[in-house]
Amino acid sequence: MLIALYSDFCLDSSTIDNCVAECAGAYALGRSLDVNGTMIVRYVGRADDNVRACLKAHASEGRFRYFAFTYSTGANPAYEKECNLYHSFERTLDDPHHPIEPFAWSKCPNCNR
Ligand SMILES: [Zn+2]
Repeated sequence: MLIALYSDFCLDSSTIDNCVAECAGAYALGRSLDVNGTMIVRYVGRADDNVRACLKAHASEGRFRYFAFTYSTGANPAYEKECNLYHSFERTLDDPHHPIEPFAWSKCPNCNR
């Protein structure tokens, strides 16, 4: 399933401050771009309330160079978007584990996990 993302930004603190608001969301991270200038996704994640803070934590770790993201209206919609990203980019991820649901009643829209 394709998901609309704001992409592909440099993963540094000033870019994140300029481009990302403090609300829930899901994101993808990468270290390189392909021949078309599109980020090769190596990691997907979500923030239940502050995607800006989450991306800044990743930026300070220094493992990734680029990011793409989308907003959501809370933890469960963020999880569903994270799942969509996971199932779209599963083949290129460093860690192939399925996202963990935020609530017992949460369901992945792709595999019903
Ligand atoms: Zn799933």
